Amino acid sequence: MQGLMMDMPLLVSSLLQHAARHYGDNEIVSRRIEGDIHRYTYADCHERARRLADAFVRSGTAVGDRIATLAWNGYRHMEMYYAVGGLGAIVHTINPRLHPEQIAWIVNHAGDTHLAFDMTFLPIVEAIASKCPTVKTWIAMTDADRQPKSDKIPNLVNYEEFLAQGSTDYRWPELDERTGCGLCYTSGTTGNPKGAMYTHRSTVLHAYAAALPDAMGASARDSILPVVPMFHVNAWGLPYICPLVGAKLVFPGPQLDGKSLYELIESEGVTYSAGVPTVWAGLLQYARENKLRFGTFNRTVIGGSACPPAMMKAFNEEFGVEVIHAWGMTETSPLGSLSRLQLKHDKLPAEAKQKILEKQGHALFGIDMKIVDDEGNELPWDGKTFGNLLVRGPWVMKEYFRGEGGDPLQYDVDGRGWFPTGDVATIDADGYMQITDRSKDVIKSGGEWISTIDLENLAVSHPAIMQAAVIGVHHPKWDERPLLVVVKRPGAEVTREELLAFYEGKIAKWWTPDDVQFVDSIPLGATGKILKTKLREQFADYKLPTA
Ligand code: AMP
Repeated sequence: MQGLMMDMPLLVSSLLQHAARHYGDNEIVSRRIEGDIHRYTYADCHERARRLADAFVRSGTAVGDRIATLAWNGYRHMEMYYAVGGLGAIVHTINPRLHPEQIAWIVNHAGDTHLAFDMTFLPIVEAIASKCPTVKTWIAMTDADRQPKSDKIPNLVNYEEFLAQGSTDYRWPELDERTGCGLCYTSGTTGNPKGAMYTHRSTVLHAYAAALPDAMGASARDSILPVVPMFHVNAWGLPYICPLVGAKLVFPGPQLDGKSLYELIESEGVTYSAGVPTVWAGLLQYARENKLRFGTFNRTVIGGSACPPAMMKAFNEEFGVEVIHAWGMTETSPLGSLSRLQLKHDKLPAEAKQKILEKQGHALFGIDMKIVDDEGNELPWDGKTFGNLLVRGPWVMKEYFRGEGGDPLQYDVDGRGWFPTGDVATIDADGYMQITDRSKDVIKSGGEWISTIDLENLAVSHPAIMQAAVIGVHHPKWDERPLLVVVKRPGAEVTREELLAFYEGKIAKWWTPDDVQFVDSIPLGATGKILKTKLREQFADYKLPTA
């Protein structure tokens, strides 16, 4: 027998509509590329998103079309999310830090019909316009009086003039909730990028789960600043989570340096933020150098790569900011797990609590996790055994866009599909997961795994070290041994021997790197993560002194 509840589809348009009705005058504040501050409300955003949706429909956009953005975090990008998704098309957010050739490849693979861009990215658009035949219209996201002219871009229109063609009478269509609404390509360190396509259903369910108190814990009492870009897995869902709860939204635009972030946090009463570890290093350094304190900022989500415990400590102890360590992937919308303490942890000593918070945490309701060996056998949750991390859930991808890479799922004995994350992790008896490596980066020494993340976290807790990466290097006896590559803090001095001695007593002796190399910089990928593939190429001819 079926239940007797309404079949009301879960749609992203309903999130913004809800915010406009119930938190209509709550603000969305954006630092614009021009440097000035723009402010309006959820009600304003909803009205403009509907006009923009209508303008897209009038320009021939149909359900299922892909419409691309090359843009920073700002109100126009937010309008694009809702106009395009709301009408039943798919907002395809592109990472502008990729090489223009790769951007053109992605646009063609997606078959984007329009591409809306911030003025910062005009040179990219000029370079790719002639190579992207599916794009009928290029939309410059700027005021009409700043509209650029370019003979390299056919059909270049102005965002404001385009939007003005739409009507405020536009009503959101009631779509099937499994309709696609967003598309994001993974940065992929090898091969071509692959697209994860989110549905309305997956996006709304993800927003519900992420907003919960023991997840991101977002509320209408918050002022939330997403530092994580809207081109990197939908800024971890914040453009959907904030309207769901009615939080004030503060968009930083292109200015992600410590000073600009600090000023915006203070002037907009920001309570909450989210971003990858590399941006927070800049903010911490600025606040320290200028002996500053935060007025309202009290917590931040850090993820995308492992948050070094030293950074967590600095936020907590020096600035009174709670760090919520989170794990996720483009393919998981992205939130899979977050580390939060429970009532039963209250009595633990501070150090034991800290150890739990350093993990990537427990799964959100909706996400199922397990670790398996290379044959697919499930491994114990003892907090020690390493295994390949598999996940499943309503906001986990089942296949890549256009079926690229075939069926990625692994099937269990009951025929249920699991997504192999490519991460290696432990899970403890309470279900707290800890990532030890990407499976491609893990070091196998004499058949045993060494966690590069642990070695890197320890290295950056040394006062002289700014950045660290550990890679496996060929060794005739052990197959592979760890090499520590570091960037020193400006003006700091430390020797190879001092760094190696720093590991003593903190890890199993055989995990200690065999050597240290000092470099000026470590290569970072388009989402700010260490590019170990590049680093391995850089050290391809390097021979360990122990070899
Ligand atoms: P992306 O799809 O570009 O967001 O990359 C996802 C990958 O980033 C994951 O599979 C992990 O390898 C890594 N990652 C994300 N969050 C964390 C975290 N908190 N700690 C360690 N690695 C992480």
